[in-house]
Amino acid sequence: MQKLDREDILKFSALIDAADKVTILVHTHPDGDALGSGLGMMRYLASLGKRSTLILPTTAPGTLSFLPVESDGPVIVANQDKTAAEKAVAEASLIICQDFNNITRSEGMEASFAAATAPKVLIDHHIGPDRASFDIVFSETEISSASELVYWVLKALPQTEQLPLGTLNALMTGMTTDTNNFRNSTFPSTLQMASECVAAGVDREAVVSNIYNKYRENRYRLMGYFLSEKLKTTPLGVAYAVLSKKELDRFGIKEGETESFVNMPLEIDEIRMSLFLKEQDGVFRVSIRSKKGTSASRCCNQYFNGGGHENAAGGKLPIGDRIPDAAAAEKYIVEATTAFFENE
Ligand code: 5GP
Ligand code: MN
Repeated sequence: MQKLDREDILKFSALIDAADKVTILVHTHPDGDALGSGLGMMRYLASLGKRSTLILPTTAPGTLSFLPVESDGPVIVANQDKTAAEKAVAEASLIICQDFNNITRSEGMEASFAAATAPKVLIDHHIGPDRASFDIVFSETEISSASELVYWVLKALPQTEQLPLGTLNALMTGMTTDTNNFRNSTFPSTLQMASECVAAGVDREAVVSNIYNKYRENRYRLMGYFLSEKLKTTPLGVAYAVLSKKELDRFGIKEGETESFVNMPLEIDEIRMSLFLKEQDGVFRVSIRSKKGTSASRCCNQYFNGGGHENAAGGKLPIGDRIPDAAAAEKYIVEATTAFFENE
């Protein structure tokens, strides 16, 4: 991680001081990092006596319900209450965007964000931030998570004496989910943050237990089916699986319950890249993970309408004439990854 720009920190500090209404935006289909970094920021602002509103473009999965959203201030789910979300952006005196590199990832909020007059701050860890749309950009890719970057930014602010325990718990949660409990994207700064959080009172075992030991049985029944029936591999070292809505429904699967399925095939020695697609809201949502030396983000960018990080990316495949169903999606994956590795 690079040193934070002192001038940007002081500018951000002054913006927080001057703001009476802060609105925080995170990405659609929020994950542990989006929600953890969002709540971490809210709790920090509350400790300074600042009112803030968190906007989730779509609802947070039940698997993250241990993060008690309601007690931290207004949380608006934009696709359930667009008017309230737009009002919170329009009336904000400071807008903070976290865990995405482009406002298009905050699906549905693009127009109100563009029209908003408040200063805009980005705190993110993805490749290629849209710098032009923000007044201050804290962007770092050599870091575990947005939650970790929020941690270092908040720590550097002159108004910070001690970060509230609620903030530390939320940020530790986001960092833990984005690193898969320290299996990837773990830098010296990440371990330092973890060490400082535990020293300050964060119960790491409770955080880990909340994330990994509270699933429903349905997930494991589907996982068995996914591994034994659905997972396919190619001679190029690609593993892939596509789950249709029908299959997800058959197992009664809810949002968040297929978390980390995409990581499992990377445990196979020969596998360089793993793709997991699931049918949701009329598209196939795409998750890609890769081992070092193979770029998930480039593959996602070129063939799956998305992006993300070098070894963890996401996107979508529209369902239509070209790809009408799961079988066609599987065929497309084989063609796309073959072309991808040919052009490497
Ligand atoms: P996941 O596979 O866990 O959904 O996402 C992996 C990474 O890719 C995350 O950092 C996420 O922010 C990013 N990502 C997921 N979906 C999309 C997408 O549709 N577009 C882009 N640009 N990035 C995505
Ligand atoms: Mn993240």
